[in-house]
Parts: sequence; structure tokens; C-alpha cells
Amino acid sequence: MNWLLSKVEELSGENLYACYQCGKCSAGCPMANEMDLLPNQVILLVIRGDESVVDAKTPWVCAQCYQCGVRCPKNVDITKIMEALRLIKLRKNIDHIKLEKVKKNLPQIALVSATRKYTG
Ligand code: SF4
Ligand code: SF4
Repeated sequence: MNWLLSKVEELSGENLYACYQCGKCSAGCPMANEMDLLPNQVILLVIRGDESVVDAKTPWVCAQCYQCGVRCPKNVDITKIMEALRLIKLRKNIDHIKLEKVKKNLPQIALVSATRKYTG
């Protein structure tokens, strides 16, 4: 099992191999038109270990409406899978600010807030 699949399964608690690519999830998704990957394609890429799915727009466009899970004949809850992919992206330890360059006379609460929001 590739690391991406095992991480998504660990975070979501879902069995992605249950999916047989019927497409019912994507057919009923109200946000599908805004997505760069359809929900069933997301599952396929995770199973293949294709890490491009972590940088896709789809998990961030997902409205968490649970429609896909309700329609799925295999009870795969894609809402949880989208959440897992967002978590993986957020945990990539990317620092968007350099703490050593932040002015030292900033209020402490601003420093704590910036550290939480903009560092990995
Ligand atoms: S509805 Fe379920 S089985 Fe069908 S493609 Fe979507 S996740 Fe897979
Ligand atoms: S939970 Fe997300 S992926 Fe599923 S139907 Fe709703 S918007 Fe689409």
C-alpha cells in the first residue's frame, strides 16, 4: 500500500478499495462543475498513490454536504476523504513566514496567531 493511501485511510477511517468507480458520487455532487478532479477520480488517484491529488482544488471546493456518501452503493464516505486530503496538505510543514524576520515588538497574541496560521 502506498503512503498516500494508508494516510488517507488512517485519517478518514474509510476503505477506498471498496469503491468500484461507478461514478454515482460525482454525478450527484453539487460542486462538481468547480472541481478539477471529480470525487471518484480523487479516489482512483489516491489508490494509485498519485500525489498530485494533494495539490488539487477539489478537496477545498468540496462543500462537505455528504451527498456523495449518501449516493454511494458501497458506503464510501468521500466527505471524510476530502477532509483527510486537506489535513495532509495542511500538515506538509510549509512555512509561509520566516519567524526570525518578524518584528519583535509585535503584540504577543499577533505572533502566536501568525505562527499557528502561517507555519507548518
Ligand atoms: S459512488 Fe461510491 S463506489 Fe461509486 S465511484 Fe463514488 S465512491 Fe466509488
Ligand atoms: S461532500 Fe463534497 S464531494 Fe461529496 S457531494 Fe458534497 S461537495 Fe461533492
